Amino acid sequence: MEDRLRRAAADAVGFMPEDEGLALHDSAAAVAARGPLLEIGSYCGKSTIYLAAAAREAGSVVYAIDHHRGSEEHQPGEAYFDERLLGPDGRVDTFPMFRATIEAAGLDDVVIPIVARSEVALRGWSQPLAFVFIDGSHSAAAARVDLQWSDHLEPGGRLAIHDVFPDPADGGRPPFEIYESALASGRFTEVAARGSLRVLERVDDFL
Ligand code: MG
Repeated sequence: MEDRLRRAAADAVGFMPEDEGLALHDSAAAVAARGPLLEIGSYCGKSTIYLAAAAREAGSVVYAIDHHRGSEEHQPGEAYFDERLLGPDGRVDTFPMFRATIEAAGLDDVVIPIVARSEVALRGWSQPLAFVFIDGSHSAAAARVDLQWSDHLEPGGRLAIHDVFPDPADGGRPPFEIYESALASGRFTEVAARGSLRVLERVDDFL
């Protein structure tokens, strides 16, 4: 990954540790020439930079989906609230920071923001994807919806999931549960793991 973009990602607001971000980039770069990448839960654009770098190298694009109202833990009074992300109407709005981050990194020619909830964007989707990265809400219902994006993966495409914690003491269950569910389906094999990031590759040709 280009040094300038690596620094931009490291400096961006967000929660992706650099070693996991680089693993995300490398996993995406391996399949990016096959089609578009898609991210659920872009927040301020930190992980988007890792994916966009991979997309640019391959001549592809990244769809970056987020309603930009923050997850449960980003709301005022919650553990990961950041007052810089409060809009003039008193609601969390991460889109201005996201856009500034992507533009400053010079990646607005490969990133396609979709400001919508995952299930709304999913309803209108038909394009085959090379890579899906799930880093959205940790509620069980939201994680199950997000997993449905993997139905749009091409054979050989990859599904990455963040915040997968095998030990419940380390974090919430839903990301781990959809990871287990994807593996149990027999349609995926694990190809990479770093920190709480897991990357699976689609092995069937059911599309
Ligand atoms: Mg995460």
